[in-house]
Amino acid sequence: MKIKVWGCRGSLPTPGPENTIYGGNTSCIQVTHGETCIILDGGSGILRLGKYLNPNVKEIHVLFSHLHLDHTMGLGFFTPLYNPSIKVHFYGPSTSNEPLVNRLRRYFSPPLFPVRLSELPRHPIIHELNNCQFSIGEVQVNSEYVCHPGATLGYRLTAGNSVFAYISDHELQMGSSNFPNEPEWTNGYEIAKSADLLFHDAAYTSKEYMTKIGWGHSSVRDAIAFGKMCKVKRLALFHHEPTRSDEQLEQMLKKSTQNLKLDFEVELCAEGMVYELE
Ligand SMILES: [Zn+2]
Ligand SMILES: [Zn+2]
Repeated sequence: MKIKVWGCRGSLPTPGPENTIYGGNTSCIQVTHGETCIILDGGSGILRLGKYLNPNVKEIHVLFSHLHLDHTMGLGFFTPLYNPSIKVHFYGPSTSNEPLVNRLRRYFSPPLFPVRLSELPRHPIIHELNNCQFSIGEVQVNSEYVCHPGATLGYRLTAGNSVFAYISDHELQMGSSNFPNEPEWTNGYEIAKSADLLFHDAAYTSKEYMTKIGWGHSSVRDAIAFGKMCKVKRLALFHHEPTRSDEQLEQMLKKSTQNLKLDFEVELCAEGMVYELE
């Protein structure tokens, strides 16, 4: 399984000379396994993904964690949607009050975007998900609701013996009253347990989190405690705050990990990074 990062910024694209290492594009991850092409989220990073996508790909599976704008804003600029020879699937969280297709139509409609979903040359195939398991090619996908405003899913992708877990937006403290002491009561545990690689929300410092409780995001310290609880092999901190520069991100990681004895790797997710899981 090959995992490529096309965007790992949270909330708002932040291009600029101070963000050249970790990048400014919002959430978009490409997962390739054999012929299978899976994309996690359609943030602004999906524009470049569409540009550099292997021209032989004829079927694409886009899995949305949720429909906040930073995870969908690139969709209208994803060129495979305008190519009728490419079959595109959209997967996203089911809610009790409105079908996924209607929620996607809101983005694809004026005044937000000039092209309607029904005007695309080939209508994407819509799949509503809840806590479930299914397969895309030889990749097994598990989805599970996690704690974030509005319906939001975490994804676990398994290919052979490799596991990649993706939990882009998640407030760990809100999902469990006794975090990090009760794995079985912690949202996302089943998604991330024993993963070879975990991408997890780490938007805030511990101090910032205290003023942003209920906003749907986690602190670096909590993301690391979650990685430890789940016994992951490698943790890439994800959903970087748009206000934070490369230098500030590195300082934040340094401060948050000093005095910690960790038996797994912790790093800052960076746009352009490629991970190969055997
Ligand atoms: Zn987000
Ligand atoms: Zn969100």
